[in-house]
Amino acid sequence: MTAATQEKMEFQTEVKQLLNLMIHSLYSNKEIFLRELISNASDAIDKARYESLTKIEMLGEDKTFRIQVSADAERKILRISDNGVGMTREELIKNIGTIASSGTKKFVEQLTGDQKKDMSLIGQFGVGFYSVFMVADKVILTTKRLGADAPAMRWESTGDGTFTLEESDKKDRGTELEIHIKDEDKEYLEDHRIRTVIRKYSEYISHPISLADKDGKEEVLNGKPPIWRRSKSEISKEQYDEFYKHLTYDDEPPLALTHNQVEGALEYTTLLYIPAKAPYDLFHPEKANGLSLYVKRVFIMNDCKELLPTYLRFAKGIVDSEDLPLNVSREILQKNAVIQKINKAATKKILQLLETMAKEEKDKYRTFWKEFGNVFKEGFHMNWENLDDLKRLVRFESSTTAAGEYAGLEEYVVRMKAEQKDIYYISGESRAAVEHSPHLEVFKSKEIEVLYLIDPIDEWVVQSLAEFDGKKLLNVAKGDLDLGELSKEEKKAQKKAEGTYKKFMGDFQEKAADLLKEVRVTSRLKESPCCLVADEEDMGANMERILKMANQKVTASKRILEINPEHPIMQSLQKMYDADAANPKLGDWYKLLVDQALLAEGSEIKDPAGYVSKVNGFLAEMLAKA
Ligand code: ADP
Ligand code: MG
Repeated sequence: MTAATQEKMEFQTEVKQLLNLMIHSLYSNKEIFLRELISNASDAIDKARYESLTKIEMLGEDKTFRIQVSADAERKILRISDNGVGMTREELIKNIGTIASSGTKKFVEQLTGDQKKDMSLIGQFGVGFYSVFMVADKVILTTKRLGADAPAMRWESTGDGTFTLEESDKKDRGTELEIHIKDEDKEYLEDHRIRTVIRKYSEYISHPISLADKDGKEEVLNGKPPIWRRSKSEISKEQYDEFYKHLTYDDEPPLALTHNQVEGALEYTTLLYIPAKAPYDLFHPEKANGLSLYVKRVFIMNDCKELLPTYLRFAKGIVDSEDLPLNVSREILQKNAVIQKINKAATKKILQLLETMAKEEKDKYRTFWKEFGNVFKEGFHMNWENLDDLKRLVRFESSTTAAGEYAGLEEYVVRMKAEQKDIYYISGESRAAVEHSPHLEVFKSKEIEVLYLIDPIDEWVVQSLAEFDGKKLLNVAKGDLDLGELSKEEKKAQKKAEGTYKKFMGDFQEKAADLLKEVRVTSRLKESPCCLVADEEDMGANMERILKMANQKVTASKRILEINPEHPIMQSLQKMYDADAANPKLGDWYKLLVDQALLAEGSEIKDPAGYVSKVNGFLAEMLAKA
């Protein structure tokens, strides 16, 4: 080989930070570096197998994939090698070198200083390789890319901020790590310690992992059939949870799981879990989500989005199909009939699992809803097929729940008053914003439950929700409120007041015509003088607010002002009008009341300074009289 030149390169800032952390602060659970390196070797083999599916000759003589581990206690070197894809020079620099992956950046941002938490983050953020520097003072990696003509590369670093690169004469594909173990970590050079750690974390790796002893004799450390192929009765909860951990790196055990081995026209197995905690990037648009796909036990791909609708993307797990070809590509998946059938069945399984949880384990369901309710609600505008299930599973806060507790529609119906026909909701920015709304006054006085739709997506949810169990969902701030039998008395009083207030209301509407399309008497209010409502067909105030926040152009529709005929302010104003319909103060009063109604519902007022000066004017007048 010609003398290759050695290049010295610098790690990017975030990588340096990470290395610094690995070397100086993380020491509570160092053994996981082995899990990370073996998982990388296993990923590399999966990639090699996938790339060679259609071109098996790429693999040459070396067709048996394997991961080999050996320790040289005297020289203090641990070796891990795989015959996976390997890396080209460019890939090497990109993957473990100068460029910090988005995962690395996020990882550094999320560090808490709490040993245990930070350790569990390592796996989740895909920064596993660097964990080797918890136990190593030097690492040499040699790698040769499958199917590339380029020479093999040798990478070396002591984790101090720089690494070197040069060509190597490695002949066969794959990656070999030479790990120089620190004195204080020499336990990782002992066979029994290595064996224990690998058995603990790598039981589910589907490629053989062998450990060679001093004399070169190899012992295979894994090799049980994958858990999902075993009979359900033979799998303990601990084993299910352990497999979940292996899949997700999640510290907490899952909330629930469903394992189904289906035989018949289609043959497949699904093992699906519902996590107890939302990942940090649940709403990240490029978020890798989806299930892992296997075909006849052979790993095909992670993050297969086609196996579940996106609103169920919180679910984790695997699908193993007997009917798909091994060389199935992402493009084929999108229109594949087998995949579509599995997707449908898996959707049903998740919904059933949630339904059981909602009935039998209410605390767990509350946890689920807190973590994933927002994502689940996306289903209302994409999953018409299962709309009835979604309706039973959806939860909202309500006037009868404490903050942070939820009510379902079935419970709501049970709690309805005997004469109540419809289901009522109020929508707004937060619980605090809706809780004291004037629109709720009559509901409070009659103890009718009102759902609080305080999540922006809820406005879209109710559009698909529309009715439940034959009962309409009605917005308390929209249309002419008709509580039917429940408000017979109020309606009578309202009719009477309509005569008395007729001319006054006409004048009010005329003077505030830019904002109001109508002024009318209401039975909605108990304490407030007036409130604003939207016409049945118009957009509600909350929807306007949400669209504005999303920078959408909205033409605000004119509102309807409803007045409380029993309120002293209204009674006095009406008298003021009767005494002198031309009184110039009337206009100011009208504006003031409309502004107050806007404030009370959480909307913005056009001219806050004008409002304050009007209020101050009235206050000054009052104080002068006092
Ligand atoms: P992750 O595995 O989550 O991507 P790592 O820090 O463990 O993060 O590894 C970074 C990248 O380095 C991997 O994505 C892979 O591209 C590359 N890599 C690491 N180990 C190997 C290996 N043994 N063979 C081939 N590529 C590897
Ligand atoms: Mg990794």
